Amino acid sequence: MASMMQPQIILLKEGTDTSQGKPQLISNINACMAVADVVRTTLGPRGMDKLIHDDKGNTTISNDGATIMKLLDIVHPAAKILVDIAKSQDSEVGDGTTTVVLLAGEFLKEAKPFIEDGVHPQNLIRSYRTASFMAIEKVKELAVSIEGKSLDEKRSLLAKCAATTLSSKLIGGEKDFFAKMVVDAVIAIGNDDRLNMIGIKKVPGGTMRDSFLVNGVAFKKTFSYAGFEQQPKKFLNPKILLLNIELELKSEKENAEIRLSDPLQYQSIVDAEWNIIYDKLDKCVKSGAKIVLSRLAIGDLATQYFADRDIFCAGRVAEDDLHRVAAATGATVQTSVNNVIDEVLGSCEVFEEKQVGSERFNIFSGCPSGQTATIVLRGGADQFIEEAERSLHDAIMIVRRAMKNSTVVAGGGAIDMEISRYLWQHARNIAGKSQLFINAYAKALEVIPRQLCDNAGFDATDVLNKLRQKHALAAGEGALYGVDINTGGISDSFANFVWEPAVVKINAINAATEAACLILSVDETVKNPKSESAQGEAAAGMGRGRGGGMRGGRGRGMRRR
Ligand code: ADP
Ligand code: MG
Repeated sequence: MASMMQPQIILLKEGTDTSQGKPQLISNINACMAVADVVRTTLGPRGMDKLIHDDKGNTTISNDGATIMKLLDIVHPAAKILVDIAKSQDSEVGDGTTTVVLLAGEFLKEAKPFIEDGVHPQNLIRSYRTASFMAIEKVKELAVSIEGKSLDEKRSLLAKCAATTLSSKLIGGEKDFFAKMVVDAVIAIGNDDRLNMIGIKKVPGGTMRDSFLVNGVAFKKTFSYAGFEQQPKKFLNPKILLLNIELELKSEKENAEIRLSDPLQYQSIVDAEWNIIYDKLDKCVKSGAKIVLSRLAIGDLATQYFADRDIFCAGRVAEDDLHRVAAATGATVQTSVNNVIDEVLGSCEVFEEKQVGSERFNIFSGCPSGQTATIVLRGGADQFIEEAERSLHDAIMIVRRAMKNSTVVAGGGAIDMEISRYLWQHARNIAGKSQLFINAYAKALEVIPRQLCDNAGFDATDVLNKLRQKHALAAGEGALYGVDINTGGISDSFANFVWEPAVVKINAINAATEAACLILSVDETVKNPKSESAQGEAAAGMGRGRGGGMRGGRGRGMRRR
């Protein structure tokens, strides 16, 4: 009897949930498709925005794929990969975040029927990798260089890239206004790699058109003491002293103990305190600086002292503002006022304190070393300005990329259609199954123009057929044709200046393919019962290999309230 019983092998802890094989893979694919569905409608100039509010009552309205994905708080372990690629696209190139998620979702969607039919995922992965390699080569080949143009010409070309990015955003209506501003800002900071050298200050109120660019630094007036009103508020070519010390009378510490034998000696202690601060202030004045900024407090005594000597001062300046003033004016931040030599002082052409909306702003313009610029954003609601800032960030990144890499491709789905056609054509010469897989990849690329149409309310099938026909023309005659967002037909995107830096597309294709391949290569999920808490529910749902379809996946992916 006993010999007939198989000994049970216990490999994993009790309660461990594992699921493997095809159902697992299909369920992962479903989850990713559900995520892609969430951002799908935001693509393109006619895309919709998403309003996301969390349990703390914060509301965010955004069109930016990365922002939405971040806020969705996705818990599905496989779908999380899509969040990661959106984030990495955002930090690598700054734009194309919706594109990358959509592409990855579509690659997986095309792969799904093959997996269901029993194709081994590795075969698909291999073909997808080949296709992605070829696609990227093709993008590089089609990219047009804007190198070697004059600065003015370059400016207008870059503005076009920025305008394409902005056209899909809330501030799209004013895209030319902002595109010019972004290009000016990026050109102002020159080759500096530090993105924080472009400051964006948000001042609610006014209209978008009241936004302006400062070729230098601007920041909100800091807290100030009595006497401040008497200080001059405008200087031409002032010397600027930056400090990291407190200019304030210190009150005696409560626990300090001083023993006096004569009450008169108390006065000398008080005097010593005053002498120290007067000595410091004296040194600041002697340095010849007309503007004194400090990261730490500048008290009422100092404020009055400076006011009497026609010097402007501001204490508690935020660190990054102080650094930007330093970079712009050429000043060095001092931690002591002893020995302030001329070299550590900065200067700028004009310093001014100005009213912007309901705020006072300190503005340094005409800075000698350039290197920094500040955009002061105006507009209605807070959420609006927040989204405007994110959009400008995208545009700034794009202009910087375009400036560095100097190659652009036609947007509006033109480049995607062209790669797709190229892959179809190539696949025809391949014998064997991989022909089908490469075709699937090519078909997936069409999601971009299709979605652009869908989001604008056009007949996608009709437009796509026209595009296919155009792109099939011999000698690449129609290679630049994409969706015309204004008429609902097709047009030469390149001629209409719908441009995107090539690096956005290259990165998007690369990242989306990688993500798709990664998800295809997972065939088992093991849920460890101990590490359950955070990801529990989602992992359990997936772990059981529930092919829940879109609805199930989405339900788990989005936070429900
Ligand atoms: P992403 O987050 O991927 O950048 P967007 O919502 O910014 O998503 O949409 C970008 C897509 O919109 C790109 O494929 C771009 O070519 C396309 N696009 C932008 N402006 C236009 C336009 N004026 N006409 C047609 N397509 C456009
Ligand atoms: Mg974009």
